[in-house]
Formats: sequence, structure tokens, C-alpha cells
Amino acid sequence: MKRKIKIVLELLLRRLPERLEIMVSLFFNRLKSRLAGPYKRHAFLKPFIRLCDFIVVRTNGDRFIEFELTNICNAQCVFCPYPDMLRTEKKFMNMSEQVLDKTIRKISGFKDALISFTPTTGDTLLHPDWDHYIARVLEQKSISKATMFTNAIKLDDAYAERFVRLLSEDEGKMSQVYFSVGGLDAETYKALYKVDRFDLVRNNINGFLKRLTENRIVTGIHIHVKLLKGMEFDAVRASQLFNVHDYPFVYFSYSDRYFSNDGYKRNAIIDYYPVDEPVKQHACAYLLKTRFAADGGIWADGCVISEMPGDSSLRLGDVDDSHDVIEEARKRIIDNWEQRQIIPKPCQGCTVYRCRRGV
Ligand code: SF4
Repeated sequence: MKRKIKIVLELLLRRLPERLEIMVSLFFNRLKSRLAGPYKRHAFLKPFIRLCDFIVVRTNGDRFIEFELTNICNAQCVFCPYPDMLRTEKKFMNMSEQVLDKTIRKISGFKDALISFTPTTGDTLLHPDWDHYIARVLEQKSISKATMFTNAIKLDDAYAERFVRLLSEDEGKMSQVYFSVGGLDAETYKALYKVDRFDLVRNNINGFLKRLTENRIVTGIHIHVKLLKGMEFDAVRASQLFNVHDYPFVYFSYSDRYFSNDGYKRNAIIDYYPVDEPVKQHACAYLLKTRFAADGGIWADGCVISEMPGDSSLRLGDVDDSHDVIEEARKRIIDNWEQRQIIPKPCQGCTVYRCRRGV
């Protein structure tokens, strides 16, 4: 029954017009942060907070901002172009304070946008000042909702303490945190992430969740498990491994298929989504997303395959360009696609594609 209600609710949320979707998202995010205070004394509020999380993650929309504090990574995942990028001229770096200041000024022009601290390649926790930088962004009035994605390799006790401090000082804007893990055992982790960090990551996530439980901090924690070809996801095992302290706002999800495009080198150990529409007449809705890169570049989209090694066809400009220049560049990419069938390299055969018709 509960499952059926979720499916219906999900279908309804997917059909909301964009403006209404943003309003619903902001409303439930604020409601959740209001409930977080009384939850410390009234545990019965747990299902209401979980319902808010359910709605908030399904109303993120298409226009969110990927905020890349660093493009350096501590893994070499087989589903990511990062290992190939290391062999190109691209500069791998942390965002400087000067770029942060300029980026903060720029994002005030993107009204009601969700900020996702998720690099295209890299792990946010590798920036030495990640918590201060995130706090600076969250304190901006124009920002009402944020998320973060990390592989948790760096989330040791000291970092967990810093993260808890960040969340306790935040006014409920950091709505959801995503952990990306490779399978449910050390062998799968190593095969997918190419580093031997399964036990470390498991301890880190459990240590962090223990702190959240003890401090009764309310944040949606999404543990996303990547799987090898033919593997089945075991939700009970996942919970036993990664949520030993039974933190109430943990949500598991998994990938048994991965995104790719025509320029992407496929790996035989994982399955990929098929390309179901080879000729795409309309541009992709995700071109409306914006990525602020660690080096000050501004790009359309920001998903893991939106920047291919040696290609910058989705680059819109940089933090010194005006909002109009950035939006003109975005329009040019979309017009080239829809009127001249010039499709940017990362979008050719891309299986993340979502049609923008009706957006
Ligand atoms: S088609 Fe793929 S690469 Fe292009 S904008 Fe959409 S998701 Fe990004």
C-alpha cells in the first residue's frame, strides 16, 4: 500500500509545471527544517520528515547549479571520464577564494536554484576549505536549498566533526547529502572505483551517521550503491553495512546501469543504458543546468559525462562574463542543436538526455 502511494505521489510530482514544482520544493524544504527542531523531543515526527525528503528530492527541477569546489579526485571510477582527463591538458585544481567570491556574486542571478556541491569530476571533500566555502554559499539570501555528493573517502572523524558543525549552523538549506559507494563488498568497490577503500568508507559513513544520530540532526542521507554487471541490490545488507546506528533519514538507491555517450569508452564489467532515440530533434533539458567549475569556468549541464576529455562544447564562459553573455552562449548551443542539428559532442548518443520540449 505504502509503495503504491509513493508511486502515485511520484507520478503527480513529475507532472507539476516548473513554477509550481519550485514552490512545492521550497515549501517542503522549509517545512522539514521547521520540523527538525521539535523532532529532537518528538520522535513521532520522523515519518513527516521522511515524507518531506521524498517530495524535496523529486522536485529538484532541471535548472539546478552544480558547484564544483574542486575537480581533483581520490578515486578512478570506471564509469567516469576522469582517468582519461588526467591525460589531457586540463588543469586539476581547487577553487580559489577569488573565484568563490565571483561565483557567489553570479549565483544570485539564478533565482530559487538548488545548489548541488557536486563536481563533474572530483570529490568536494578534497578542497581543504570545503566546509567554509559551503557555509559562505549557504549564508547567501538567494540560496534556499542545497545538496552535496561525495564518495566519503575523506570523511574521517575530523571531517565528520566539521560536517556536523556545518549542518548544525546551517538553517536547513543543506537538504540532502549523497554518498556514492561501490557495491557491498571490498572486491566490487575496488573493481568499480579502482581504489581499495571499502572498509574505510563504510567506517566513515557509519561514524558520520552516529554523530548525526547523537546530535539529532535532520538531513536526508542518500547512499547510492553502484553495482557491477548482473549484480542484484540487497537493501537489507546495505543497511547492515552502512547504517549500523539506524539513523532514521537514510535512503538507499543503486545503479546497475550507467550513462554513456558516443565519445565514452565503455567498460565490460558494467552495463549501460541503451540509446533509445539516436536522432534527437529537441535539445536536452539539462542544458538549462549550470556548472560553476573550480577554475572559474561556467558550463551548461554538469553531469558526469558533460565534459569529455579535450572537449569544451558545453562551456558558456567564465565568472568574469555577464549573465547576458552566459545566457546568450546557452541559447546559441540550444539553437544550433534545434535549428541546425549541430549537437555538442557530450550530447551525441548521450543516455542521460531528457527532451526539453515543454520545459
Ligand atoms: S544530452 Fe547528456 S551531456 Fe548533453 S546536456 Fe543532456 S545530459 Fe548533458
